[in-house]
Parts: sequence; structure tokens; C-alpha cells
Amino acid sequence: MPADDAPDGTDAGPPYDCPYCDGRFHRESYLSLHRGQEHPDALTDAERAAFEAAREEEEEQLRLFRLQALAALVFIYFGFLLVYAFSL
Ligand SMILES: [Zn+2]
Repeated sequence: MPADDAPDGTDAGPPYDCPYCDGRFHRESYLSLHRGQEHPDALTDAERAAFEAAREEEEEQLRLFRLQALAALVFIYFGFLLVYAFSL
């Protein structure tokens, strides 16, 4: 049983349905991103605003992830450098 199944066995899918296709999404922001990317010509003003907000939020999360990945790489690099220096 998938984790998103409702306990009573009724409608078990993700809660957010795309009004333009069969897509279903776990988060409203995922639905907003899908509508903006797959149905850009059919958006209302409110849907377009939601898409822009979701896209900005996702770009911020991506920027944070890239910084964290870079920090991890630098940490690993200098860790191995120190291990190498003390093994000489
Ligand atoms: Zn769709």
C-alpha cells in the first residue's frame, strides 16, 4: 500500500488534480509548476501568479542545495588533504 493511500481505502491518489490533464500531485506547488510548464497557454492570472511564486521558491531551494553541495565537496576535499598530509 503506497504511503499516500487514505486509511479508509477511498480516493488514494495525490490530492491535487490538474484541471487540464490526468496529472495528480502531492503538493499544490508541484501542481502550479506542472500547469506553468505543461499548460502555459491555458493559465488564468491566478494560476500564472501561483506558477511564478512556486518557480521562485524552487529556484531558491536549488540555490541553497548548490551551496550545500559545494560546501560538502570543499569539506571532503580538505578532509582528504589533511589525511594525506598526516600520512606522509
Ligand atoms: Zn496537466
